[in-house]
Amino acid sequence: MSQRQIAVYPGSFDPVTYGHLDIIERGLEVFEEIVVAVAQNVEKKSLFTTVERIALIREAVSHNPRVRVDTFQGLLVDYVVGQGARVILRGLRAVSDFEYEFQIAQMNHNLRREVETLFMMTSVPYGYLSSSIVKEVASLDGPVESLVPPPVQKALAAKFSRIRT
Ligand code: ADP
Repeated sequence: MSQRQIAVYPGSFDPVTYGHLDIIERGLEVFEEIVVAVAQNVEKKSLFTTVERIALIREAVSHNPRVRVDTFQGLLVDYVVGQGARVILRGLRAVSDFEYEFQIAQMNHNLRREVETLFMMTSVPYGYLSSSIVKEVASLDGPVESLVPPPVQKALAAKFSRIRT
């Protein structure tokens, strides 16, 4: 496959939400293959382990053979080139995402000139949806059915009931 047809969609996905899945679905309209790359970020404290985060994404995208789920450590741009790709796909929500994304995209481009970051605007219903807000609502026993797929709802319920007991 030509390297122009593969996009790497990196993130924490802690856990995956309908906002992430929307970017993946729409990304597939543009790219032949999407590699969802779960970051093993030691600094960010995550609720789900890397293995759990990968399993939840796999469950949500299992119907689509054009989506691959993987994990990476170290420099994202090196991983992207190693996958035979040149494009990093990221989602943009509110203006608040912009500053951070701009900084990272510029740095990545400096590190590897051949790698480009492409941004896809969130779909209106998911403009304010983030993994953090989902975790907060779930931790307070709030409804998350409209925010995450059923296996993620179950996994959240299990995590929080275990924490509470
Ligand atoms: P990170 O810690 O790298 O920001 P996230 O899992 O929070 O990882 O997000 C991964 C990518 O998905 C980011 O580009 C983020 O902007 C995008 N994203 C997250 N939620 C949404 C959403 N509701 N709509 C569009 N893009 C989103």
